Amino acid sequence: MKKKNYFCYSDNNKRYHTLNDYYQNKFHSKIFKISLNAGFTCPNIDGSVGTGGCIYCSNLGSGDFAGNSQESLTNQFYQIRDEISKKWPEGKYIGYFQAHTNTYAPLPILKQKYEEILKLDNVVGLSIATRPDAITEECLDYFEELSKKTFLTIELGLQTIHENTSKFINRCHSLKCFEEMVKKLQKRHIEVVVHIMNGLPYETKEMMLETVKYLNKLKINGIKIHMLHILKDTKLGLLYKQNPFPVLTKNEYIDIVCDQLEILDPSIVIHRITGDPKKEDLIAPNWLLKKFDVLNSIDKELVRRNTYQGFRLSSINFRKKIMSENIHHYDQIYTFDDSKETLNFLNTLIDTGSIITSNNLQKGKLGFIYCNDSTLLCRNNIRYWKSLLHNKGMIFIETKEPNSFYQEIGEETFFIDTYFYVIKKN
Ligand code: SF4
Repeated sequence: MKKKNYFCYSDNNKRYHTLNDYYQNKFHSKIFKISLNAGFTCPNIDGSVGTGGCIYCSNLGSGDFAGNSQESLTNQFYQIRDEISKKWPEGKYIGYFQAHTNTYAPLPILKQKYEEILKLDNVVGLSIATRPDAITEECLDYFEELSKKTFLTIELGLQTIHENTSKFINRCHSLKCFEEMVKKLQKRHIEVVVHIMNGLPYETKEMMLETVKYLNKLKINGIKIHMLHILKDTKLGLLYKQNPFPVLTKNEYIDIVCDQLEILDPSIVIHRITGDPKKEDLIAPNWLLKKFDVLNSIDKELVRRNTYQGFRLSSINFRKKIMSENIHHYDQIYTFDDSKETLNFLNTLIDTGSIITSNNLQKGKLGFIYCNDSTLLCRNNIRYWKSLLHNKGMIFIETKEPNSFYQEIGEETFFIDTYFYVIKKN
């Protein structure tokens, strides 16, 4: 039987909320982001809040695929757009102010730069990358007005919620400052996308998952998940050469990203899910150069797990996973739960089998018994219920409290706030 993708935001086989799907639903058109270099610098480089910048930052201000700042923004835009339009003549565009800190200038200059791009044909919005400590109140007011006229997204760098790591990488802003800026933008109904980075030196998997859990609570609109890449001519590159620290392997990264997706609110759009360094600049890790291999590996791992973005936010998802993996299309199923939702779901899993909720039961016939009321399947009658199963059948029990009897005879899983037990015939 064909396995279904239960992820609600995807029209295809993707198991996470892709930017492509999001744009398609919003604009009903293919949308391209065009990376621009407006020639800004950064308060973390010029000494306003810090010097030297974040230790991983390249001299292009983490805008290595943006245009050349010596050229006008319009020319930068046209150069990239002309290439894209050969293949996608109907495409529409978002101007992406990517390099350095794109709100770090007096407001009249900012307005002039943003509005130069907004005037161009087929531009449907702007995406502006910046630091949480670099947006003034008057700029926020301007953004509020701008967002009523165009599709505006502000991208904030965070990278990690952990103070020690943040200090180590020289971010030079606090988590409090970040959170306050997210709330100010949200109060003005402006979409917020947050950049995080996996594989920062000395961070554990648990720490990376905590960063995602924190962002879930902030109800951001989108996330960019980067893998740390160590570039030549950066402080990080120098540190790595002097004292190499462990860098995530591809398999470790895939595992962490899939865990992050499973705990991430499914409405949050995934703008990026891996790093994309230039080969000539990269010191490590080399596996990042095969971007499509990384993307395919993430898809494959989610299929292998039979999970998707937000999977771990609801125990119902775990119940559905067990059912879809263990019920066969010819099975007879007995369910103690005859709610419409459960019956509808079970019906999707069987073609020629049947769902039994009456007491008309025959021994050795059932493939699956689902019980959501553990008082009904007690020590005294479990032998009877097991006798109803065929040789490959199983009993699946869901309960809010742990149950020592089921523990003795089955397999226990704790998921969110629910205990699940699987008891097999043999
Ligand atoms: S905030 Fe951005 S531009 Fe500034 S130093 Fe850090 S990475 Fe570079």
